[in-house]
Amino acid sequence: MNYRNSYNTRPPIVKPFQQIINASTNTAQDSGNNNDNNLDKSLDMAIERAVGTESTSRTSTPTSSAHPSASATGPRSSAEYNRSVNSARSNAQQGPQQNNQADYGPRDAGQYNDRAPQGQGAFQGQPQGDQMMPARGPKRRTQISRHKKADPTKRTVSNASDVQKAPESLHIPPVGENIRIIPLGGVEEIGMNMSLIEIGNDIIIIDAGFKFKDTDTPGIDYILPNTKYLEERKDKIRAIIITHGHLDHIGGLPFIMDRIGNPPLYTRNLTSLMIKKRQSEFPHLPPVDYRIVERDRESVKLGNISVRFFGVSHSIPDAMGVIVDTPYGMIVNPGDFKLDHRETVVTAEEEKNYDLFDGKNVLLFMGESTNIENPGFSTPDYIVHENLDEIIRATHGRLIMGMFASHFHRIAHVIMACEKYGKRLIIEGRSMKNNVDIAIAAGMLKIKPGTVISGAEIDQYPPDKIVVLATGAQGDEFAFLMRASTNSIKNFRLTDRDTLVLSSSIIPGNEKAVQKLKDNVARLGVKIIHYRTSDVYIHSTGHGNRGEIEWLHRKLRPKFFIPIHGHHYMLRLHAELAENLGVPKENVIVPDDGTIIEIQDGGTKLVRLSTKAPNNTVMVDGFTIGDIQDVVIRDRQILSQDGIFVVIALINASTGKLKKSPDIISRGSVYLRESQELLRETRYLVKSCIEQVTQGSHPINIDYVKDVVSESLGKFLFQQTAKKPIIIPVMICV
Ligand SMILES: [Zn+2]
Ligand SMILES: [Zn+2]
Repeated sequence: MNYRNSYNTRPPIVKPFQQIINASTNTAQDSGNNNDNNLDKSLDMAIERAVGTESTSRTSTPTSSAHPSASATGPRSSAEYNRSVNSARSNAQQGPQQNNQADYGPRDAGQYNDRAPQGQGAFQGQPQGDQMMPARGPKRRTQISRHKKADPTKRTVSNASDVQKAPESLHIPPVGENIRIIPLGGVEEIGMNMSLIEIGNDIIIIDAGFKFKDTDTPGIDYILPNTKYLEERKDKIRAIIITHGHLDHIGGLPFIMDRIGNPPLYTRNLTSLMIKKRQSEFPHLPPVDYRIVERDRESVKLGNISVRFFGVSHSIPDAMGVIVDTPYGMIVNPGDFKLDHRETVVTAEEEKNYDLFDGKNVLLFMGESTNIENPGFSTPDYIVHENLDEIIRATHGRLIMGMFASHFHRIAHVIMACEKYGKRLIIEGRSMKNNVDIAIAAGMLKIKPGTVISGAEIDQYPPDKIVVLATGAQGDEFAFLMRASTNSIKNFRLTDRDTLVLSSSIIPGNEKAVQKLKDNVARLGVKIIHYRTSDVYIHSTGHGNRGEIEWLHRKLRPKFFIPIHGHHYMLRLHAELAENLGVPKENVIVPDDGTIIEIQDGGTKLVRLSTKAPNNTVMVDGFTIGDIQDVVIRDRQILSQDGIFVVIALINASTGKLKKSPDIISRGSVYLRESQELLRETRYLVKSCIEQVTQGSHPINIDYVKDVVSESLGKFLFQQTAKKPIIIPVMICV
């Protein structure tokens, strides 16, 4: 099989998939290390993006770069170039296997030219840029060969099941009598939470998140946990349990479920509605087998593993923790949590969530570490609700409120306050509307008729009676708030009698966008209340601070401890906390993604195996899901910094002489029109390099010629420009 076929079998996904991809393009990765917690923000925002896509449409794909239309040597060369392109293209169409051969013949030109198709073309069967490895300087060739070697198994497409791959994790010893825990993601980063528990012949999975690209991965849409270990043990997987509906817990599902054999998915109703909404954007996927678990503490058998669930407080409703009962005690993973408290005294209702642990034997605690750096207790939600209530009551003029669409409780409170004070509510932004619908469908929200009005009715009520609830508090370019700030919404003009409340923190990376939003709005004279500048609390984190984490440790008193959900430093801090609270050092393991941990010897030992589950990065790049594309990423980094330099030479096969002066194409590197001297010297260098190498050699070793040209040209350009562009020599023997 080849992946062109598998592309072609999946045409219906083009549109929805593209939407999802578009939805991600502006999102920044969150470092999770902030005064106020930023994790839930990134998730919330992500949900805004995924559940309701108001963001930009991406106009170009990474593969749509330099087209060789403007060759520095003019039209004379382009006809010849095209000829080589055509012959090369017919080669390239033989399929991707061809590209794995160490053959950099004339096809290179075509490979280069094939970079031109836009995203959709690539989807329809044009191999994408990374599948065509151009020759280049010696330093990079090692990378290429490594890539080539890894290629057949690593470069997978989303329908992984039809790709034959060598087993990668079968050397890992079987679990035997032990209990095995593997955090596949989320323990070296904020995002892509996923872990598995393996006992006997059964595996259960907890969560399947993703994380957004960062500056290290240009052009990538999402990063997924590596599920190879699971893919190779599909028949043991009994269930996937989703603790709540944030994207760092559900984001990976559309990409992962298929690969792990679509196991039944256990979660609460609201979470299932959010997952359904998201899955509907991927209509080619098989339906998910949902098993709704609403009742706390009721035992569910997954294979031979007994699992129970318990409710936790988080910034999204219906968040739940997971208990796995083993003969040696419970394994507890509360998921993301915070505590409802009054002045650091946990409320009786919250205490009840955890009373099932009183006097019980907790074998292992897997605890989230997001806010471990923040001392004390986090701001409880009720304070935020009270403050928003007061703002809604006291504001004169129209009130515009921006918040994350996944803050269901907060949205519900805004709606209730509007009803209480006789205000009319306009809901703007698709994700906000979607989530209000989901909340109504889940029975969490009842809205009195007449409370919500449409945007068109805004002028039928006095300004004092108007509240607009909108998305876009992160400064998203195409969301309601930013468009309103530039007065580009029909029949809606912000004025100096309006007030804007931003009830959200800023996701790291969005600072500039939010600043721009606030500047725009301030220019219109609008009063702004933001959580940073306001002396009242109008936003709170969804994750417990250190005090709350400590409270939970004291509640569970675990024998073994594994910190999860955070960057490495956070996990370390969390491990220290556990040790300070009395867990012996040897009973604590700070894992990395893919670390295999076992509870051995009848529940008496916590052991880190020396071998790891496959853990190389899996990226979603357009329509491709791959385990590793280091070379592609490096190329993008180089392209963005140093550009690309293409040399095309026509060599007389019998004499080894050039048929004409070589053509040079440069993009993002040197502006050739203004560098005539450099251009002349480059041509001369290329010509003499080639003719020196080819002199007296029959037949001409084209690969060797390319290496020499790449190396000499690379050195020369570095001397002349202090830049190291990607060099693509295209050598054509005629
Ligand atoms: Zn969460
Ligand atoms: Zn989370």
